[in-house]
Amino acid sequence: RGQADVLTFGESMVALRGDGPLKLGGTMAVSVAGAESNVAIGLARLGHTVRWTGAVGADEAGELVLRTLRAEGVDVSGAGRDAGAPTGLLLFEPRLPEVTRVHYYRAGSAGSRLGPDAVERAFGDGAPPRVLHLSGITPALGARPRAACERALRLAREHSAQVCLDVNFRSRLWSREDAGAVLRDWVPYVDVLVASDDEVPLCLPPAEDASRELADQAEVLLGLGVREVVVKLGSLGATAYTEGGELHCPARVVRAVDAVGAGDAFVAGYLSALLDGADVAGRLGRGVTTGAFAVASRGDWEGAPTRGELEMLEGGDGAVLR
Ligand code: ATP
Repeated sequence: RGQADVLTFGESMVALRGDGPLKLGGTMAVSVAGAESNVAIGLARLGHTVRWTGAVGADEAGELVLRTLRAEGVDVSGAGRDAGAPTGLLLFEPRLPEVTRVHYYRAGSAGSRLGPDAVERAFGDGAPPRVLHLSGITPALGARPRAACERALRLAREHSAQVCLDVNFRSRLWSREDAGAVLRDWVPYVDVLVASDDEVPLCLPPAEDASRELADQAEVLLGLGVREVVVKLGSLGATAYTEGGELHCPARVVRAVDAVGAGDAFVAGYLSALLDGADVAGRLGRGVTTGAFAVASRGDWEGAPTRGELEMLEGGDGAVLR
C-alpha cells in the first residue's frame, strides 16, 4: 500500500435531517455525519488520498456510512464492522434559521468501542500517512476510543507523521474539565492545533490564565511544541499563530444556509493546502474557502468543493458558469 496523505478515524453515524420541530414528525433526509469523515471527504474531493479507519456496526446503517465514504473516494479498507454494537444515529432538528438542535443516539455504539488495536493495524498496513488527523470528539466517547487516539499520537510521532487535532469540544459528551484534562496531555504531540476561540483555553496547562488574550494563549501552546495554532472564528474567518507571527484571514462572503460542518470543511481546506506545501496565508485562504462552501450548502459535507471548484466563489453574485 502506498503512503496515504492523511489517516483519520472517529465515529461516523447515520444522520437524519428534518426541516422543522422534530416532535411534529414529517420527513427526514438520510445522510452520514462524523467530524473526521467530513474532513476525509473534504480532502478526497480536493484530490488527496485519505484513509478512514473508524468502526461501524455490522448493520445497514454501517453499510450506508462505508458506502458513502467509498463513493467519495475515501479508503475504508481498514474500517471495522462491529457485530456487537449498532452504528450510531444523529438527528438534526433545524429549529430556527440560525439554530439547529442535534440529538444523539450513540451511547454504546460501534464507534464508541473503537480501540487501539484498530490503530495499530492502520499504521501497520503499508507506508505511514503524512498527516494524522484527530478530533477531540473521539476521546469523549469512552476509554477505548481515547486509548486509540493516544496510541495513534505515539505512532504518528514514531513514523514522523504530522498531527492535526481539531479540539471540537462537545458539551453533550463531556465537561470542559474532563476535556481539558485529556487534551492538555495531547498538546506536545500536536503540530497543527485547530480550535474555536473558546476552545483554546481547554488545551492550556492548568496554571495558565485562560482569560488572557488569544495571542498570549497561542504563544503558550507554541512554546509547548505546537507549530500552528489555527483559530476558527465563524463568520469572522480564521487566525493562525505560528513562529512567524499572527495572520488573520477574513471569511468569504456567502449566503449561509447551514453552518453545520463548517469547521470540518475548514480543516479539510487547511490540510489540503498544507499537503500542497502552501504557506500559512495559502492554508488559511483555502480553509476559509472550503468553510464558506460548507455554510453555503445544506448538509455537513455534501457541498465540499473539488479542486476545480475552489475558484467558484470568485464568480460574484448570480454567476452562471457555462
Ligand atoms: P461547526 O462546529 O459548525 O462545524 P466551527 O465552530 O467548528 O463550526 P466555524 O468557526 O463556525 O467552525 O467555521 C469554520 C470556518 O468556516 C470559519 O473559520 C470561516 O472561514 C467559515 N465560516 C463559518 N461561518 C461562515 C459564514 N457565515 N460565512 C462565511 N464563512 C463562514
